[in-house]
Amino acid sequence: MRNRTPMIAGNWKMFKTCPEAVNNARTLVSLVSDVDDVEIMIAPPFTALTGVFDVISQSAIHLGAQNLHWEVEGAFTGEISGKMIYSAGCRYVIIGHSERRQYFGEIDERVNRKINAALDAHLLPVICVGESESERESEKTFSVLDKQMQKGVEGLTLDQMGSAVIAYEPVWAIGTGKTATPQQAQEVHEHLRNFLANRFDETTAQNIRILYGGSVKPGNIGELMSLPDIDGALVGGASLDPETFSKIIKYK
Ligand code: PEP
Repeated sequence: MRNRTPMIAGNWKMFKTCPEAVNNARTLVSLVSDVDDVEIMIAPPFTALTGVFDVISQSAIHLGAQNLHWEVEGAFTGEISGKMIYSAGCRYVIIGHSERRQYFGEIDERVNRKINAALDAHLLPVICVGESESERESEKTFSVLDKQMQKGVEGLTLDQMGSAVIAYEPVWAIGTGKTATPQQAQEVHEHLRNFLANRFDETTAQNIRILYGGSVKPGNIGELMSLPDIDGALVGGASLDPETFSKIIKYK
């Protein structure tokens, strides 16, 4: 029996204006008002954070940001710090999403700095890792993930690691409609948990939530959640529609 509270998180990426995001959040609040056994997080664009926070602050839904800069403040035009997103109402921040790794030069060392910055700002990091299609085909999945994890969480204390959430998101399954089979996902989640047990300790490894991400839909969440090391989902496309997202949240 899993003793970790399941978590379903929505990554709204670069979608929705402020009024659209606020409307979406309002609908979601009413659709999931009866849910008390799943932790819910939504990560709208930066511009909608405060508006969405006003709507969800009295509900059980947590707010997350999709990125942060590693410095607290400074001459970094266009960047947003952990202190800023925390003050906008965020509890979580997504770090190292594959779209950031792919398009914005988010190398493991930056992921590590951002994780530290998030923790310093009292934010809980959702650390994304995942292999590309060619890496999977050449059987490098585990070595790629080990490297991302090793460098990403380098220097973290047990307590710091314990406050993080990991999201396994195979790059080839993000936004493509291709989902890892539940068995492929479970195998990787188990591997990641073993990595955490070796690098940190067994208790930390058992307590950390490892989410799956990659074309999660109402039709596949149930089977994914039936597996012992899958503790929830990071959902992109299907989180943009509150009805669909609420069905994923109510997967049971
Ligand atoms: C994501 O953006 O983290 C994601 C998993 O996207 P999608 O659900 O659209 O594949």
